[in-house]
Amino acid sequence: MKAPSINTESQSALGAEKYFRDVTASAEEEPPGKMLIVGRREDEPPSTSAQRRRFFGHIPNSLWNDWKWHFRNRITTIDELARYIPLTAEEQSRLKLVTVKYPLAITPYYLSLIDPNNSEDPIRKQAVPVFDEIALAGIGFEDPLEERRDSVVPGLVHRYPDRVLMVLTDICPMLCRHCTRKREWCHGGWMRTPAEIEAMLDYIRNHKTIRDVVISGGDPLTLSTPHLESVISLLRKIEHVEIIRIGTRFPVVLPQRIDDELCAMLSKYGPIWLNTHFNHYRELTPEAAAACDRLVRSGVPVNNQSVLLRGINDSVAIQSKLCQGLLKIKVRPYYLYQCDEVEGTEHLRTPVEVGLKIIEGMRGYTSGLAVPTFVIDLPQGGGKVPVQPNYIMAQTGDELLVRNYRGHIYRCHNPRTRAKARPMLMPVPVKVAVPAKKEGSRDADRLSLRS
Ligand code: SF4
Repeated sequence: MKAPSINTESQSALGAEKYFRDVTASAEEEPPGKMLIVGRREDEPPSTSAQRRRFFGHIPNSLWNDWKWHFRNRITTIDELARYIPLTAEEQSRLKLVTVKYPLAITPYYLSLIDPNNSEDPIRKQAVPVFDEIALAGIGFEDPLEERRDSVVPGLVHRYPDRVLMVLTDICPMLCRHCTRKREWCHGGWMRTPAEIEAMLDYIRNHKTIRDVVISGGDPLTLSTPHLESVISLLRKIEHVEIIRIGTRFPVVLPQRIDDELCAMLSKYGPIWLNTHFNHYRELTPEAAAACDRLVRSGVPVNNQSVLLRGINDSVAIQSKLCQGLLKIKVRPYYLYQCDEVEGTEHLRTPVEVGLKIIEGMRGYTSGLAVPTFVIDLPQGGGKVPVQPNYIMAQTGDELLVRNYRGHIYRCHNPRTRAKARPMLMPVPVKVAVPAKKEGSRDADRLSLRS
């Protein structure tokens, strides 16, 4: 997933809106303009979400359940944001400076999960800019993973031998403040042209070692379903492509996108895996659960890749609740990433030791399936490396001293050399006296058989 076509305070929304109209030409007509805060429509059933009632109670379910409506009505300016979240005039001025460099985009759905009166709210911290993003500028890198270096044709990253990353657009439904591709946010609003997509497909066709294609962005589900299908169907025609993976945050920030049309399309081209990005258990809403359920029922396994974020999910308790909650909605906790060294995210980064402590605090105390692999995506394109707590305390000769999750130490034999077979002793035949058969005795034959 990567970045968007989103507006800065000084830019109009026209680029993103035009693009969006182009790729979702079938969107139903809706009243023009952004949403207005007016009274809730009387004919609407009350929402289960207090925030939705408070902010979007006037929006009928037909629009609230339409992902295109949410996309068109994203909050993209500080002035709009201040209508929902209390911000002083000084805060607004400072945040406007931030959005010149790192724009803002929040879907109404995700905004409805934020506690507006709590500046430490973990959902808010993922979506609402803070001044530290520019105050700590100079720490970190624009492109820490050096993705540009590994691009073989525009939009296609080939770093590992058997898989490629296909970037179809830089547009996202939301701009996550910890995003690795923040650098793209101000150049945004593009999607790959048919010629560029054909060049990517050609490269994949000509490299038979590629068995796994990851479609990402931006967020590829920003594309309309027919547009996405046109790419996936061509990928499926390449024999050596075994699996297709989609990286998307839509199930978290706009689950309405996972609609029947999309699921029916994906189910035609399996095996397709979907990796999403829940960071906090409060994101596991009924809407998100239903979206994941629709995917799984369509034959699309869902994995989660979360990012370890300071003040958001950096504790054993929060990670345990998140990962156990993911399993309940049939999503496998896959990776927990150390936050990349991205410029503009320093305030959200934690020491690596925090991740190790979290894994140590989960392993053994909850289902192994609920424990993600903690990884560092190395700078300079070094790739992902798992980092785990060390359970081996010592190694002596053919033995290991290993501690378990409670800290108890156990000795394990470590078969470093192949054991030699012991000479086998031939059994010595034993003469057994068979008692004479007594006439008329019961079980006489059985007795002889036993001897
Ligand atoms: S982390 Fe957020 S902003 Fe970045 S690519 Fe993924 S969805 Fe887009």
